[in-house]
Amino acid sequence: MSLSELTGESLVRLRARLAAKEISAEEATRACLERIAATEPSLHALITVRDGSDPADDALADARALDAAGPDPSRPLWGVPVTVKDAIATRGTRTTAGSRMLESFVPFYDAAVVERLKEAGAVILGKANMDEFAMGSSTENSAFGPTRNPRDESRVPGGSSGGSAASVAACQCFASLGSDTGGSIRQPAALCGCVGLKPTYGRVSRRGLIAYGSSLDQVGPLTRTVEDAAVLCAVLSGHDRRDSTSAARSYADESADALCAAAGRTDLKGMRLGVPVEFFGEGLDAGVARVCERTLERARALGAELEEVSLPHATRHAIAAYYIVAMAEASSNLSRFDGVRYGYRAADADSLDDLYTRSRTEGFGAEVQRRILLGTYVLSAGYYDAYYRKAAQVRGLIRQDYLDALARCDALIAPVSPVTAWKLGSIIDDPLKMYLMDIYTVSLNLAGLPGLAFPAGEVDGLPVGMQLFGRPFDERTLLAAGGALMQR
Ligand code: GLN
Repeated sequence: MSLSELTGESLVRLRARLAAKEISAEEATRACLERIAATEPSLHALITVRDGSDPADDALADARALDAAGPDPSRPLWGVPVTVKDAIATRGTRTTAGSRMLESFVPFYDAAVVERLKEAGAVILGKANMDEFAMGSSTENSAFGPTRNPRDESRVPGGSSGGSAASVAACQCFASLGSDTGGSIRQPAALCGCVGLKPTYGRVSRRGLIAYGSSLDQVGPLTRTVEDAAVLCAVLSGHDRRDSTSAARSYADESADALCAAAGRTDLKGMRLGVPVEFFGEGLDAGVARVCERTLERARALGAELEEVSLPHATRHAIAAYYIVAMAEASSNLSRFDGVRYGYRAADADSLDDLYTRSRTEGFGAEVQRRILLGTYVLSAGYYDAYYRKAAQVRGLIRQDYLDALARCDALIAPVSPVTAWKLGSIIDDPLKMYLMDIYTVSLNLAGLPGLAFPAGEVDGLPVGMQLFGRPFDERTLLAAGGALMQR
């Protein structure tokens, strides 16, 4: 089997080959590192590669240690090479969040999700590029330069987990972790033609995820198949006493094998899918709309019952409510970067105030500074009631819209992005236009519900993704429906 055939396989297939000792963890890791070396010069999906150039930080050494102990069927990711968004702390491996502020930050701890990956036997190849502090929809806000879309290198991969999506789509790895505050797993998955799962808020621990909007952020997987996402979902799910927002729940009947079996479903008999009218209206590209219509027809042919539903607040007020809540929380979360405790420190400051100002001015990029300013404004005395409190109220209405629709339907289905991947540089200078690209993704985070993006087809050779929205903690239904509907 050639290298590219190997790295192009699904995670589930690779797992079987590793378990059968047809291939070693070291061989799988080496194949990925070679693929990374070949593709990175044009893609720039990764900020840091654990290729052994620092002998203390070497993916191959980790793989060899696994091989020495031998395959372990109780570890669902044994020997599987993955990449991790650079907003997620990795012990001993630089973690930048795409920012100058953390350019040389090497965590002394692993994020909870990284502990889980390692316990499951995964090999971490490197850290994926991203918009600075996960703020953006195109990965162009990275302080380390943009990532290119593997399907068309003149286009963006989406964002903010654009590096994760590109590394999966370019077969540099078998899965990647992203984070989704307002669409940052689902939208880059859609633009690069992969699968992306945003879990229910509280299902996956946020400990060690560098916070953007703490009430919105969730870590989740990007993969090439729905089955692969199911395996990762099982590995990542679990209560964490050290994250106060982690749901105290058990996932005992949702093992990797159980979720994978759900994802293997080939029909939708007995399933009622809601189609929210507001997600198919003005602003949706005609080509994308046609792919969505065909997907709905396929759902019907597979036995699903389709029902039109309305989420009146979910698109109309979503962008306004989301950007107020997200920026407010970001302005608070980013106040810890003061040039004193850790992160970038400006040289030659002549007072404490000057140190704060210069460190933050030099360490943060333009978009991050814009959001800190707006977030501070909406939280300030005199404006809090008009903006933040109002947004929090709208958030409640949006969640209720979803729950009402999901009381009648097993899941809802909608487009992920109003358009396919756009040209690099084409809207980066128009922040409002960039925010509007998130119209179909942000409301789900405000509602705290799970979402699964899957490839639904193509327009002019560019991937189109659709997403399924589900009831709290009902990722299983999304995986089943996505598995049946995905266009391979
Ligand atoms: N594009 C959205 C934003 O910039 C969502 C980002 C995300 O989910 N991290 O806030």
